[in-house]
Amino acid sequence: MPDFNPTEYAVPGFVALVLLEMLWARRHRRDAYEARDTLTSLAFGLGSTVSGLLFGGAFLALFLWVWQFRLFDVPWSWWGFALCFVLDDLKYYWVHRFGHRVRWFWASHVNHHSSQHYNLSTALRQSWTGFLTLGFVFALPLVLLGFHPAMIAICAGFNLIYQFWIHTEAIDRMPRWFEAVMNTPSHHRVHHATNPRYLDRNYAGVFIVWDKLFGTFEPEVRGEKIRYGIVKQLGSFDLLWSVFHEWIGIAQDMWRAPWKHKLSYLLREPGWTHDGSRETSDQIRAAWRERNGERENSVSSDNLVAGKPEAA
Ligand SMILES: [Zn+2]
Ligand SMILES: [Zn+2]
Repeated sequence: MPDFNPTEYAVPGFVALVLLEMLWARRHRRDAYEARDTLTSLAFGLGSTVSGLLFGGAFLALFLWVWQFRLFDVPWSWWGFALCFVLDDLKYYWVHRFGHRVRWFWASHVNHHSSQHYNLSTALRQSWTGFLTLGFVFALPLVLLGFHPAMIAICAGFNLIYQFWIHTEAIDRMPRWFEAVMNTPSHHRVHHATNPRYLDRNYAGVFIVWDKLFGTFEPEVRGEKIRYGIVKQLGSFDLLWSVFHEWIGIAQDMWRAPWKHKLSYLLREPGWTHDGSRETSDQIRAAWRERNGERENSVSSDNLVAGKPEAA
């Protein structure tokens, strides 16, 4: 079995590009980087690598055990890899969607979103606690289909490397055909935004087509300032709090909730409460649409009443 982790080889490239973007930011976007935020992101990246080393072996052992029950044998060929890459990306879309819509998964994925900045170092903000969510089971169907666990790991590695460069404000738009098919800085800025229209949109890893297919695509609107981060900002650079705050929040909510609601705090979407004391992303968006729609309607009806067409 080949022992090859593409992400490890990419690290020098990551570092070089972060430094290059810092130089760009000094001239064009002075608030793009904040030292404490970047250090937190780097610590996340390092911690997630350590966590991967500690727990990755156990997952690999499980995958290899499941491998014996495979239905087919996908060969180590170019088309095997291509098929594996596309299906792994489809798997990524769904893992990621669950990561935002089920609080149990969000508790781990929130780490990637808690920075209020958006730069290449944000890409390195990876969770330490992914192993807790058992999200890796999403890959088991691929193993059962006959893709070797090492092939899946290599594809997942390249998938992660692809996602690095889209964490930037230095690139506005890619060519139209590229924006139509691939995940891009523009699409992923939407994913990291807390503006109501952008909440829980663009879950794609490499191919944006999944969002278009499954109804979660939202294009970036020119001229609308993006607020990055999470709905309830952390307001802290304390590393351990950053890593564990949502797990602690879940524990507190479950402790306080009546018995029949306890599990919902684990399995429903972030922001859900049994007494309506917080808002989910759907509720935030609906309220925003109502406010916005009302304003738009009143403007157009005013024009109608006045009997004159809108000035061009
Ligand atoms: Zn996300
Ligand atoms: Zn991201």
